[in-house]
Amino acid sequence: MTKVLLRSRMKGLLAACLLSAVAHAQPSATTSNCPQTTAALYSRIGSVGLDERRVYRVREATLDRPNLHLDFDEGRLAFTEDICGRITGAYFEGAGEIRLRPPNRVERESMALFTGMAILDEQFSSAFLRFNDDTAALLLPFLSPAEDASDFVKQGNEMSRSLAGTDALRLLLDFSHLLPTPEGTEPTRQFPRLLHAHLQGGKLGAFEVFWDGANPEPVWAGQLRTIDDVLFFDTWTSFVPNTAASEATPVAIANDVSITAFRIRASVQPPRRLQTSTEVNVRVLNGGERVLVFELSRYLKVDQVEAGGRPVDFLQNQAIEGTQLQRKGDDLVALVFPAPVAAGQVLKLHFTYAGDVLSEAGRGLLYVGERGTWYPSFGLSPALFDLEFRYPAAWTLIATGKKISGAGDEDTAEATADERVSHWVSERPIAVAGFNLGRYVRAEAKAGRVAVEAYGTKGVERSFPRAPAEIIEPPTFPRTPGLRGAPQQPMVVRPSPPSPARNVQAVADRAAKAIESFSTWFGPYPYGSLALTQMPGDLSQGWPGLVFLSSYAFLSPQEQAELKLGPVARLLDSLVMLHETAHQWWGDLVLWKSYRDQWFVEGLANYSALLVLEQNNPMQFRQVLERYRSDLQSENKDGEPLRTAGPVTLGQRLTSSHFPGGYDAISYERGAWLFHMLRSMLQDSEGASQSRNGKPSPEEPFFRALRKVRERYAGKRISTQELMQVFEEELPRPLWYENRHTLDWFVEGWINGTAIPRLETRDVRITQKERGAVASGVIVQKDVPEDLVTAVPVYALTRSNSLIYLGQVLADGAETAFRLTAPSDAQKIVLDPKQTILSTLK
Ligand SMILES: [Zn+2]
Repeated sequence: MTKVLLRSRMKGLLAACLLSAVAHAQPSATTSNCPQTTAALYSRIGSVGLDERRVYRVREATLDRPNLHLDFDEGRLAFTEDICGRITGAYFEGAGEIRLRPPNRVERESMALFTGMAILDEQFSSAFLRFNDDTAALLLPFLSPAEDASDFVKQGNEMSRSLAGTDALRLLLDFSHLLPTPEGTEPTRQFPRLLHAHLQGGKLGAFEVFWDGANPEPVWAGQLRTIDDVLFFDTWTSFVPNTAASEATPVAIANDVSITAFRIRASVQPPRRLQTSTEVNVRVLNGGERVLVFELSRYLKVDQVEAGGRPVDFLQNQAIEGTQLQRKGDDLVALVFPAPVAAGQVLKLHFTYAGDVLSEAGRGLLYVGERGTWYPSFGLSPALFDLEFRYPAAWTLIATGKKISGAGDEDTAEATADERVSHWVSERPIAVAGFNLGRYVRAEAKAGRVAVEAYGTKGVERSFPRAPAEIIEPPTFPRTPGLRGAPQQPMVVRPSPPSPARNVQAVADRAAKAIESFSTWFGPYPYGSLALTQMPGDLSQGWPGLVFLSSYAFLSPQEQAELKLGPVARLLDSLVMLHETAHQWWGDLVLWKSYRDQWFVEGLANYSALLVLEQNNPMQFRQVLERYRSDLQSENKDGEPLRTAGPVTLGQRLTSSHFPGGYDAISYERGAWLFHMLRSMLQDSEGASQSRNGKPSPEEPFFRALRKVRERYAGKRISTQELMQVFEEELPRPLWYENRHTLDWFVEGWINGTAIPRLETRDVRITQKERGAVASGVIVQKDVPEDLVTAVPVYALTRSNSLIYLGQVLADGAETAFRLTAPSDAQKIVLDPKQTILSTLK
């Protein structure tokens, strides 16, 4: 193993030397110029300028990567100054062309939404490239000396220096191996190839293309756009390229290490400050990295990091402008170890940090929500948490996990009159941990053995809308004779401000009821308790055992009415608590695998909430689904239908400059519809739906599948494919496609598709036979891709006006003939009368 690595490293050095030899036909090289500290190296990588001695004319040069082709037809090119003998960038001006070929329908449609082309083919006039491989050497044969080098460098330098920072952390992963090590350790790892191009397109303006083997999806392209002062990063496409496995196998650096345990000691100083000492146990799988990158809120400044008691070099980096990471308010911390970490090693890291990460929303409400991660993490990976908080005695603090001592207990020896200490330990590995702080009023309810607590403050946040005042006209009847005084004025009645504290008991009771229903449908509630704590604003989050619940969800029906919310808006507000409670199963216990699978936790949490509604009020259940149906058929101000934002599997990419609310609408609303379709078609095919009036029953195949998902994937991540495999196990014979036990057609057409078909019948005949009748005809699907398959429930309307279920027909493409037995008094065929399909209603 060592030999191979040495050889490949020498090859790398050889290429670099060769490059220097050719490139320095002019003045001498500065290859010994290698920064000796992490900070100096990082700053060098992040601000590199162009090299006046390496300016060339370029003709007919090309760069090829799988699915990506760049032409530099004619122009001038300058390389960046070398760093430790390596060239890592180039600036080009002239005539160039890019072709980027997404490998499948979903990605081509996404590309077309943003660029108008399914395959990107665009001229560019300038390019800034950043790379970690032999790209410079590949360009050399097409270069010849150029004049006016200094003018050209002057022109390009500003762009080079400003864009260099974008990849600084990524390149540091490679370059960290060149830093001196106390033990003189050899690098043990080859880092995946990177090519990042910032291009100025002729038609499309500035955009970026990545080919980075360190990403699970190595190729992507996109563009920053500002619409109405809001910055978006539109991801045009992102995919795994078509290439030989050896070359493409991405080395996902992030998955090489996982955190097994956290021990956090935090001091909370309202209104804003958090001071923390956090121990993190990290397990290394393959090893070889010298740099580990953690997410941590940018509002928290790291003072010190230690590994096994010795200080570790670290950098705190700005997140990339406009990325998802930045919108979450996250920051990055990169640790640079003195030597590469080794396979099987368990690192015991100790971070000390502090900052103004809390915000005060007024009236005894603090929150940590929007300002990013409050402890260093790698994203979603279940770990054990041991949390201890110190905070002023006037406040109540609720955290994830089981409270093992603290405020309210007899044995709070450590607490003083002014300060409380509370200690929380996770009952099982959890993917996120958090806390909430307020001057709360508390209520409790029980769901079997599960304690359900609700915490609300007496008031709402400053930004909460005020209920409109009502003007009451004075009575018009004649005044009582002889009564003196001023003439009567209209009376202004201002409703008293809402008070979540008044409604905490109702919230706790409803949540406890929901937990009972969810437990019978999905399997046992995963944690010992659930706390629902008020959070300012209209956002809510469901974390393991702890729900951050929007102030709106604490309003009584009367308070909602005073805010003049429409009936559906009120209904949706009331669903939030149920949605977040359902996340305890979907999202907290069972996690999603990649961004392409995240839709399922939102879609399923939303549908779970709707099921509670259906249980109590089937009419309202229909109302909400119909509202989603019409939302999904709406258009943006440019007339683009919302469904063209893409399929649920594009995850957060759905939020773009075209559809700022795309992710919510598609993953929550189409997602809920997809689960409704699955449930209905499984149930119809079992012939069970007729008897139960559609109310949810734990015996349904849909719930049988979900209980299996809970059992098999508790504490694990599940992909859309794996989820559908569980549903396939419950797939009744009538839903087999081409005699196969598969839901591939549902995944392809509905989950990975955007269709909302219009369903019609043609040539329907009902023929009387000896016993009963036979109904035949053609099901027509309109406005759909030609290969869309839909399971359509077919009913007969009898002369006595009852609807009789005849069977499911898998409508395949535009037209599908069917033939089903029917009762002899059938007089009409009706498709999907219960409207269980996300179709366009006539
Ligand atoms: Zn959610």
